[in-house]
Amino acid sequence: MLAVFGHVNPDTDAITAALVYARLLNRQGVDARAFRLGDLNFETAFVLREAGVDAPALLPALQAGAAVALVDHNESAQSTPNLAELNVTRVVDHHKLGDLSTAQPPYLRFEPLGSTGTILLKLHREAGLSVETLDARLMLSAVLSDTLHFRSPTTTQEDRDAVAFLAPVAGVEDVEAYALAMFAAKSDLGDTPAETLLRMDYKVFPFGDADTPQQWGIGVIETTNPAYVFGRQAELLAAMADVKAADGLSGVLLSVVDILNGTNRTLVLGPTEAQVLAGAFGVSVNGPVADLGARISRKKQIVPVLEGFFAPQA
Ligand code: MG
Ligand code: MG
Ligand code: MG
Repeated sequence: MLAVFGHVNPDTDAITAALVYARLLNRQGVDARAFRLGDLNFETAFVLREAGVDAPALLPALQAGAAVALVDHNESAQSTPNLAELNVTRVVDHHKLGDLSTAQPPYLRFEPLGSTGTILLKLHREAGLSVETLDARLMLSAVLSDTLHFRSPTTTQEDRDAVAFLAPVAGVEDVEAYALAMFAAKSDLGDTPAETLLRMDYKVFPFGDADTPQQWGIGVIETTNPAYVFGRQAELLAAMADVKAADGLSGVLLSVVDILNGTNRTLVLGPTEAQVLAGAFGVSVNGPVADLGARISRKKQIVPVLEGFFAPQA
């Protein structure tokens, strides 16, 4: 059995890509099953509820050498802790290639598109398989989630075309209304503990010298209600300090992305983070919030800038 899973702190693309890719492989005669590496966020829970599908099970401990397929990620820091012992046979992803290494020649499908869902639609077409209603709904949700319904600069024409194709198959008549319902669900954070908010959409990245990299934790809260998040600023900063110490990180950033206005205000934990933000992005940082303007994509507008900032000088 091939275990298919997305990244830790899963988002809608990570969960739906695992479900859809496992189903696609099943239709192609591969014994595959979807798993997840963490709790669903509120948006993904909404998507699965609306689609009438159960969440994939948590990934159990796998034996060394077990075959796995990665979706929506490839870096070990974002995967199951014992990834190095597993046999990665397939990767379908839309992120930069990281430290992936494999024992055997793998099947790799990387494209610089807005979501893994868009790639999975192409895989259906290439296999000559029709798109089932459930898969259409899951892939549609993934594209809308990752591109913030085309608000993100990661959006490509192929993502737009995918949504135009998938919406009628999924039975979603008003795509913007559905996207706004997803974002509302994501923003309804209630009394979620501050550390959970920080870790909900959170990834650790190595920066600088490849042999002795600094590890930075970068969280994003995409919300239609930033006032709620900033109302919990003190708690979130305390959680960032705790995570930084507990995980031995060089820095922790938490970007609060206002989905509807397309802006990013990032919480600044301390002088290290302030210095890096000012140096990397050329913004003035006074106090605990840095205005990063329209840089709303961690993948396209935050991480590459930090990689450049930390790159060893030749
Ligand atoms: Mg993802
Ligand atoms: Mg994705
Ligand atoms: Mg995202």
